[in-house]
Amino acid sequence: MSPAVMLPLKEKDKPIVQKLLSAGCCARCVLRFCCVSVHAAYRQPHQETLKELQTFISSDTENGKSQDPDPDPASVPESTEEDNKSQDASVSEASDDPPSKKAKLDPGVSDAPPEGVKESDVCMLCLGILQDLCGPSRAVKIAETVKTENYTFDTLVLSVSLPAQLCVREHSCWLHVKKEVREKSSVLDKDDVIQVKEAFSGVMQGLVAKELGGVAVVIKSQFEVGVEFIHPETDADCHFLATTCGDCFKPTKNKLSLFTRMAVVKALERLSDSKFLKHFPCPPTRPSSSCTAQDIQCLHVSVFVAGRYNKFCRSLPQTPWVIDGERRMESSVEELIAAPVLSSFRADGFNFSSSGREDVDVRTLGKREQALCRRTLVLSPEVCFSVYFAGRPFAMELLNPHTSRLSRAEMKQLQETINNSSDKIKVRDLQIVSREAMGRMKEGEEEKTKSYTALIWTQKPIQREDITFIDEIKDLTLDQKTPLRVLHRRALAVRQRVIHTMNARFLDPHHFHLGLRTQAGLYIKEFVHGDFGRTKPNLCQLLKTDTDILELDVESVDVDWPPAIPE
Ligand code: ZN
Repeated sequence: MSPAVMLPLKEKDKPIVQKLLSAGCCARCVLRFCCVSVHAAYRQPHQETLKELQTFISSDTENGKSQDPDPDPASVPESTEEDNKSQDASVSEASDDPPSKKAKLDPGVSDAPPEGVKESDVCMLCLGILQDLCGPSRAVKIAETVKTENYTFDTLVLSVSLPAQLCVREHSCWLHVKKEVREKSSVLDKDDVIQVKEAFSGVMQGLVAKELGGVAVVIKSQFEVGVEFIHPETDADCHFLATTCGDCFKPTKNKLSLFTRMAVVKALERLSDSKFLKHFPCPPTRPSSSCTAQDIQCLHVSVFVAGRYNKFCRSLPQTPWVIDGERRMESSVEELIAAPVLSSFRADGFNFSSSGREDVDVRTLGKREQALCRRTLVLSPEVCFSVYFAGRPFAMELLNPHTSRLSRAEMKQLQETINNSSDKIKVRDLQIVSREAMGRMKEGEEEKTKSYTALIWTQKPIQREDITFIDEIKDLTLDQKTPLRVLHRRALAVRQRVIHTMNARFLDPHHFHLGLRTQAGLYIKEFVHGDFGRTKPNLCQLLKTDTDILELDVESVDVDWPPAIPE
């Protein structure tokens, strides 16, 4: 009797235990249906639990009734008959040979049905997942994979993906037990049944933690280790649901199978018990083989890195430039920054975004040292601000980073690596940011101001009055029709944009440097040459001569994010 005391089972659980064992349920699934929520109960080897359960139910015939007088006399004879039946069944199941034989083989790999055994001992409910696929050898495999992938992490969450047909089998088994329970007038709620996932995690969390030297295996973590089981032999279990509840199973492009767990659960909820029982055996039939464990998948949540960049080159696109599958430029700002960042964080991939973008032939300049000097010269506080935050803000989402933390010194080192790798770009203020903080970069982008310097050519010689005239223009509103050169990717529209200030610096009679501070989203090139009258007013109209833009530099993008890092 003593081992049975270990399990927190009550007299009222006996009929359920008997019923489930004789139907071909494994010991752990029996515990689940008896609503045993103590994880410790699942941790002992399932063969041990099975022995205890057998002892538990066989004790009934001698002293069960005297210990637990049944209040309902009508149920006594039926219960006795049931007891005898399931006892026979459990003896054959307990015949001790198959489980121990399997245990001596590799318990982690048990896809093959045991040879020479008439009836397989694979659980008809969990399809073997809570049997030999849930124990120390599986924990060793999981830990080995995690170690090989060499992630840095403090905690991990173990996620389990189960074949969808488990829901169907679970439902069938529930109906099987419910009948019994109703007759015994016990209260058992389907929601109280412990889920296969929970039982699996209850056993595995501690084992995996131990294998990984005490790492905390928790419910929520940035690092996820995914275990997936499939069972092709019983995949067809779900198929009848498609005829009974067609609209639950709509084909989607990115799903391999119609029978997702979600859809199956939904279909089962809509199905009446009687209809279900017409289509599916109750209790479910026993499978001949266990589930197959798929490759273990490790995934770390994204890390976000932000900074500002300068671009010093007039032949460098911001992102890889590919036309009709052919590469036009050998590199890009994005790639020059991403390569060292990816290797530092050992990430699988990235998404790059920035506050606006410059054309391939436009430089993005602005130095903080300069900014600090120029601060004393400018009168408007906005200008001080804008110049101080020189460079274009950018952010990168790093996908599945194997390293998720870098110290301030390591980030500085990474920034130097990027800066030393090329003289075409430079980054500063490189830092790890939160996903939420990234939103600040795009926030109110249109309202921000930008500063530019353009090299202008004029057909007529420039007069002193022209310079003064330009310097005095304030808050000039332009109507810009979508430029011809971007019409293929932007909708045709007229946008109003403001030039806040301009200043001209004379170079020679046909050339001057034009400084502009504008609302973000204004097309500078089109303002200078007029874009065949699509931008009005334009510089040609203002100076009453043909003008063209020879060079353009972005001096600053006034987004006060990410925060500056003191050198
Ligand atoms: Zn089971």
